[in-house]
Amino acid sequence: MTDASALVLADADAHDLTTLAGYREAGGYGQLARARRMEPQQVLEELLASNLRGRGGAGFPMGRKASFLAKGTGLPVYLAVNADESEPGTFKDREIMLRVPHRLLEGCLITAHAIGSQHVFVYIRGEYLTEFEVVRSALDEARAAGLLGEVTVVLHRGAGAYICGEETALLESLEGARGQPRVKPPFPAVVGLYASPTLINNVETIATVPKILELGGAAYATLGVANSTGTRVFSLSGNVVRPGNYELPLGTPLRELIYELGGGIPDGRALKAVIPGGSSTPILRADESDGVRLDFDAMAQAGTMLGSGAVIVLDERACIVQLALRVAQFYEYESCGKCVPCREGTRWVTQILHPIEEGRAAQGELDLLLDVCDRINGKCLCPLGDSDAIAVASYATKFRDEFQRHLDAGGCPFGGASSLDGLLAPIEFYPDRSRSRMEVAHASAH
Ligand code: SF4
Repeated sequence: MTDASALVLADADAHDLTTLAGYREAGGYGQLARARRMEPQQVLEELLASNLRGRGGAGFPMGRKASFLAKGTGLPVYLAVNADESEPGTFKDREIMLRVPHRLLEGCLITAHAIGSQHVFVYIRGEYLTEFEVVRSALDEARAAGLLGEVTVVLHRGAGAYICGEETALLESLEGARGQPRVKPPFPAVVGLYASPTLINNVETIATVPKILELGGAAYATLGVANSTGTRVFSLSGNVVRPGNYELPLGTPLRELIYELGGGIPDGRALKAVIPGGSSTPILRADESDGVRLDFDAMAQAGTMLGSGAVIVLDERACIVQLALRVAQFYEYESCGKCVPCREGTRWVTQILHPIEEGRAAQGELDLLLDVCDRINGKCLCPLGDSDAIAVASYATKFRDEFQRHLDAGGCPFGGASSLDGLLAPIEFYPDRSRSRMEVAHASAH
């Protein structure tokens, strides 16, 4: 859904921007022509002036990242676009690919010019087959129209691993190796794809670039709020009347997204909590989410993160222990296994959570759970392990009474009435991997 403030999804309601003709009607590729008349450094200056922060999750300023690229190496410079959108709750990049594929391609070509690259790779999540086909069709049209110039654009489909959204695992996967994160430093700007300087940015980040050129970097920087400039496409899901993608200026109140655009919570039920930036971000209780704005600093002050911009709303019927187990199962399942704290720790977390959720754990297990989270957090090779630990610890700390009620009542106080059903993947999706070998052996013996 778009409104007057939309930049990335601008004109997508009025025109069919999936075709070259439709995109050109809306002024498409005009900024590419302009950029190619500019010196690359001038284009880079506009990106720096915009203070556009990466929309994938980490929020690092794109212009600065591009300016870190190693110079004078004699090696090719690569642009890798991360379209491996996999964070639970996040579905904005797929809408960008489906509705404004040419804007994404124009952003790729402008960015390639700015960094002196002739090689662009777009790494698309394997499950996004329709999105792949839409982008491929747009690329064919752009190529036939001669818009690519000297630039080669390769669309690469992933094979379904969440970890390949981590930038160095993505590079490993592109090179044909097993998708596992690399030790950093060196960073991809110096040693990236095929050991060459590489800029990696998310789909939404790259699709914003044509609008930055159109407005001018300084003017773009006036949108949003200080340190969180421009707009962002938020994926709103969970217990809301109108879930969907909403492009809004950064700094918009969280409440406005949930209650005005999203229509509030069905049947007038009460808000219980919000996960503000995808499953890897700490949860906010209802009282904490009141008055919070959707920008990087406001979220940090609230003790959480803007993350991937996926806002998951939970109403009063949501069982937070069930939520914790589902999120933990996801991270255990997706752990690549390269480092011990994550490989072993994520398994421990689910093994402790299972009996808590079923109400058959000993009283001390809650503290053990928090201790294990503490032993994972900050000790992993990449953010996946931390994501599991941070998210689960936030549930267990902020809703400790609810965890305790599971222990005291010998089961889930919500029973089958939890509104979590239908949100995130069901527990059954992750078969016995999340139970200890002893539990599995015990179950199969009966
Ligand atoms: Fe792999 Fe997890 Fe270690 Fe990341 S934190 S490298 S996903 S084992």
